[in-house]
Amino acid sequence: MTRTLEYDICVIGSGPAALTFAGQFLEGRSNLKVLLVESGETLDPAYSNEHDESLSRRYNDLQTSAQALYGGRLSGWLETNKPDYLTESRLRAFGGTGNVWSGWLCAMERLDLERGKWPVSYAQMMSFYEKVCAYYQIPPGWCLDAQAEDAGDAWQSLPLPSQMFRTRPLLARRINFGQLFRERLVHSENVDLLLGANAARIDTRGVNPSKSAHQLTFVPTQAPSSAIEHNVSASAFVIAAGCIESTRLLEASELGAASGALGQYFQEHFYIWNAGTFQMTENCAPYRPLYLQEKTLSVSARDSVVGMIVPTARYLTEKGGGTFRAILGGGPSIPGTLNLCCEQLPAHSNHIVLDNVAPHTRTAAQGAVHVHNELSAADTKTIENAVMSLGESLLSSGLITHFKPAPFDIAPTQWQAPHRLAPGNHPSGTTRMSSDPSQGVVNSDCKVHGVDNVYVASTSVFPTAGYANPTLTLMALALRLAETLQERG
Ligand SMILES: Cc1cc2nc3c(=O)[nH]c(=O)nc-3n(C[C@H](O)[C@H](O)[C@H](O)COP(=O)(O)OP(=O)(O)OC[C@H]3O[C@@H](n4cnc5c(N)ncnc54)[C@H](O)[C@@H]3O)c2cc1C
Repeated sequence: MTRTLEYDICVIGSGPAALTFAGQFLEGRSNLKVLLVESGETLDPAYSNEHDESLSRRYNDLQTSAQALYGGRLSGWLETNKPDYLTESRLRAFGGTGNVWSGWLCAMERLDLERGKWPVSYAQMMSFYEKVCAYYQIPPGWCLDAQAEDAGDAWQSLPLPSQMFRTRPLLARRINFGQLFRERLVHSENVDLLLGANAARIDTRGVNPSKSAHQLTFVPTQAPSSAIEHNVSASAFVIAAGCIESTRLLEASELGAASGALGQYFQEHFYIWNAGTFQMTENCAPYRPLYLQEKTLSVSARDSVVGMIVPTARYLTEKGGGTFRAILGGGPSIPGTLNLCCEQLPAHSNHIVLDNVAPHTRTAAQGAVHVHNELSAADTKTIENAVMSLGESLLSSGLITHFKPAPFDIAPTQWQAPHRLAPGNHPSGTTRMSSDPSQGVVNSDCKVHGVDNVYVASTSVFPTAGYANPTLTLMALALRLAETLQERG
């Protein structure tokens, strides 16, 4: 039995990307009819946290039919360092991983975009970052690099002596996306939400370059391998199913493969807890509230902030490698610790592929992913340079003594406690953006090259990851895509 639903725009997913996109169609700003197709089966937070009503961290033992679809295979450092990465770095439910995320918001730097040859200018990104801040009522000075000087009285820079580092605020606003949009969707005339619907593939007509998608096929989440299929026909399809699943859907639909970049350049952030220890000196005292306390500094009822240390353009030119940010930990009774988030350099060999199932026998359940990701020698160098240079700079500033770095004679993947390497749960890069169809999967509008009407709203379009937590940039791109599709009517 087949049933076809008809909409102007069909969006796959209901996480931060999909909801930020759909938000632009909710309040009568457009007459376009939008459908969100979500494989999670309920609006209720099955993963709710009894101690904190706003957000939960209990998604890791979540057993639902939808979450089970996130299973797959890992190889490389993720397999050793986080074997349950595929089911514990994302949540398949209404609101997506935006129900369980930590809420750190940070814009990318101009240099991050330039190094990755993003086909979107920094000025344009900045204008969409500002719109996202206005939409979610986030104070821009705390998360937009270009506006850090407006952050407020609580902000102060660390007195680092070299030209190699500077400081920036990092803002935490724990928006619960599912909770925030639930009522708005219920009352919307233009945006519908279909729960328990697992997107399986997008079908196209025509041939390159005028190929166009005409329908999405979805199957019930409860019976992903069954013969029951439904279709949505739409003028435009927006894949907002998270980095790995958006890439999987394009691969399963045999779309976007022309450049050879589809599924390649998988990147994760390397989170390194305790990359070095130190003793704080008396000079640290004035900076403790922002940089050295165990918890973050509250700057409003909803927002808290921590100071981070980031490399300058001069550092990156002299040392090469990826960029990073450091957050200092520790308190009066424990030693200081250096905690890093490092960018992984894009490498063609790090990839997401469908796991060994022939296309004609694939079903939504069978077409699971295989994610392969190696920590390269260049990535290890990024980490080692960051630790040694930061240690040197903090020592010479007189802020710390007795700096003891992690043991770089051992591979970071093999470090034992108290040093720890883990993914940031920030996958990106596998449908990278480029104006040149031979270099990327989507163009500067996030439209898949070679297909008229399929768009990707995901961190998978990032050509480089920088050090910033990705969701603010993701939301800026989703909002930009919404404006583009609204203008096209
Ligand atoms: C523990 C944790 C902490 C984090 N903290 C931060 C942070 O502090 N700051 C930050 O910037 N980022 C953080 N992140 C990352 C952040 O959660 C993601 O960047 C963000 O959720 C991505 O949004 P998304 O909409 O692209 O994908 P998701 O939030 O993963 O949403 C994808 C949606 O698509 C649906 N879906 C998937 N496949 C299908 C399908 N086939 N059919 C139908 N629906 C489908 C899912 O159910 C879900 O609703 C964190 C992640 C984790 C796991």
